[in-house]
This record gives sequence, C-alpha cells and structure tokens, in this order.
Amino acid sequence: MGGKQARQIMPSRLKVGAMVYDVVAANGLPDMGLCDEENATIAIRAGLPDDVERITVLHEAVHAMLYALGYRKHNERIVDGLAYQMVAVLRDNPDFARYLVAGD
Ligand SMILES: [Zn+2]
Repeated sequence: MGGKQARQIMPSRLKVGAMVYDVVAANGLPDMGLCDEENATIAIRAGLPDDVERITVLHEAVHAMLYALGYRKHNERIVDGLAYQMVAVLRDNPDFARYLVAGD
C-alpha cells in the first residue's frame, strides 16, 4: 500500500495457541492458502501479490485459531472478512497495533 517500508518476509513459523505451524510457500495449491492442522502446516500459494499474501496468511491463521478453539467447520466468509478487516484495522491504526503487541 504505502510502499514506505521494505517488503516484509512471510514468517516461516506461526504459533497459535499450543500449536506451532510451519508456514510455507507452495506451488500448485488449488486455493490461495491451506491450513493443515494435522501436519501443523500453513501453505500459501507461491507468487501472490504482497497484500494478497498477507491477508491469506492471516486467513489461514484464523482457521488455526478456530481449530484451537475446537471448531472444525468454518464459515469461509467470516474467516475471510476477519482477515481483511484485521489487516486493515491494524494497518490503519499503527498505535493500536503497537499497543496490542506491547509487553510479553
Ligand atoms: Zn479458508
């Protein structure tokens, strides 16, 4: 969006509750992303534009959060809407983002 900062590299690991997921770029995925709870892997289609990649990683992280809460079936619209809105709110409110992640 602003292009003010250098491109951030997609994290290779993501801790969600008790799980640590490997986050990998993958070719040939039928969808933009996949959250594979059994294998503790989040796969993201290789070569997505930066913002699409970010939102997709968060989308899959929301799936991982729901799995951690014991929900097996997820409403894709809600997962996708939350991912878009969380990225937007955090990006539009950097003070809020810093406030949230402050401390341990
Ligand atoms: Zn999904």
